[in-house]
Amino acid sequence: MTQTPDDRRFAELLHHRAEGLAQGDPITPPLVSSATYHLPRVDQGGFMYGRMSMPTWEAVEAQLAILEGAPCLSFPSGMAAISAALMATVAPGRRVVLPSDGYYTTRLFADAFLAPFGVTADYVPTLAMAQADLTEAGVVFLETPSNPGLEVCDIAAIAARAHAAGAKVIVDNTTLTAVLQRPLDLGADVVVAADTKAPGGHSDVLFGHVATRDAALMARVRDWRKLSGAVPGAFEAWLVHRGIETLEVRMARMCASAQVIAERLAAHPKVQAVRYPGLPGDPSHALMARQARGFGFLIGATLADADVAEQFLESCPFLARATSFGATHSAGERRARWGDAVAPGFLRLSIGVEPVEALWAGMAEALAGL
Ligand SMILES: *Cc1c(COP(=O)(O)O)cnc(C)c1O
Repeated sequence: MTQTPDDRRFAELLHHRAEGLAQGDPITPPLVSSATYHLPRVDQGGFMYGRMSMPTWEAVEAQLAILEGAPCLSFPSGMAAISAALMATVAPGRRVVLPSDGYYTTRLFADAFLAPFGVTADYVPTLAMAQADLTEAGVVFLETPSNPGLEVCDIAAIAARAHAAGAKVIVDNTTLTAVLQRPLDLGADVVVAADTKAPGGHSDVLFGHVATRDAALMARVRDWRKLSGAVPGAFEAWLVHRGIETLEVRMARMCASAQVIAERLAAHPKVQAVRYPGLPGDPSHALMARQARGFGFLIGATLADADVAEQFLESCPFLARATSFGATHSAGERRARWGDAVAPGFLRLSIGVEPVEALWAGMAEALAGL
């Protein structure tokens, strides 16, 4: 058995600070929250003022850069990263093509803050993105697999079409993380992600990042962060750095458990439908097997109706009843309560790191009681 390039980068990620260490330096990154830095002169580089750069951001950005294979900038939330990437790429008079079935806050942002400045957003279902009309498009924004429907689209094929139309491609990679999918390698120009989810991983921090290999674009994203002032706090960066150290091992457990749970839910008479890209019969399976190295930890499960679905959540001992996903603890939520275009009994389940048999025993008992 030889190591894969992925094995190599996951190992490098844990030792990324080694090279710069001097005798007596801390192994973990110091939590530096200083707003100002010793600055007798401004022409010699280094840290100057906390809105421009901070040592603890740089620690987490170094990890993220290894994961993404590209320079990264950190942001105080996933939406801060998404809005920064959009503000750095949109152009007056050129459209933004966004998924109609992706994370809904991205659509609210486009309608509230891009449309009034002449950047109209067109909404296309993830499954129709490959055929979308890209005339006059400046930005094509993808989310694959989509949250919460888990539909996927072909990043490489869409990037080729978008580039031919003169558009930049942004991929929201939150549902898989760079551990499982690297959109930049498939031709995307920019990756955005909510590190609030699996990278932070413990439901105790909001964070996000932008990754791109396009230096000019990166400079604009950096300017947006500096000039808008949407900067992350040092403690948040420190927490995410700690979370990312175990991201790969958590993802391995979470995805393996999700596969087991999805298979059993799919075979259960009380479950009407299951979406999990790891199921061979799932419509997302073949494409995801090609463009990702795993199928993720999210499952869509449809129960009879809203009441039955809520009752299931209430009786499951190991499902947090919360929004969000990707944490150590499994969580479940009925997405129609937010207005997502899904059946009233549709649950988004995020599988955590609990031993899978304990998790399943709780679910099986809850299903039996419905
Ligand atoms: C949660 C989420 C976001 C937003 O992240 P925040 O940290 O809450 O701002 C963006 N995109 C997707 C796909 C998400 O699931």
